[in-house]
This record gives sequence, C-alpha cells and structure tokens, in this order.
Amino acid sequence: MLHFSCDSCGLPLDDRRYVVRLEIFPAFDPENLTEADLDVDHLQEVAEELNEMEMTGAELEDCSTKEFRFDLCPRCHARYQKDPLGREAIRRLNFSEN
Ligand SMILES: [Zn+2]
Repeated sequence: MLHFSCDSCGLPLDDRRYVVRLEIFPAFDPENLTEADLDVDHLQEVAEELNEMEMTGAELEDCSTKEFRFDLCPRCHARYQKDPLGREAIRRLNFSEN
C-alpha cells in the first residue's frame, strides 16, 4: 500500500490528497531555427539530435521541458491555490521587515 506525505509540510496524507503538476518549457525556440532549418528533412535531423541530447542528458537541460509533481495536504493545497508563485508570501515578508 502506498503512503503519501505532503511535499510542502510533510504531513502524512489520507484520501484527501491534492496533486500539483507543473510543466516548465521555453516559449521560444531554443535552437533558434532559421528558414533553412524549416526544411522538413532538416527538422527530422534536429528532432533526432534533440532526442539524442535528451538521452545523454546534455547541455540543453535548461531549455528542456521540466515537469514537477507534488502531493499536498488540504491545508497546503488551499494555501497553494491562492498563491502558486509565492508572491503573497514574499510581499508579507517585505511588509514585516518595514
Ligand atoms: Zn501540507
């Protein structure tokens, strides 16, 4: 039997578990394709190169799609959905310093 714990606070989770899935990827083309690159055969090449890079875990790492998955307890879920990027938390921190 699988046991989950909250990835935010560490609380053991029961059935009321929430899953956060994040995907991060560049909205631009990391290869910066030129018109010549748009040739179909060349695209195939590029795709193959990218596949090889992925398999060897190469330098393009920062441009590759990143996926995260977190399990959250109801409390952390409620907090997270209000402020997924932690902006409120940062603002509060700044206020308290004043
Ligand atoms: Zn939690």
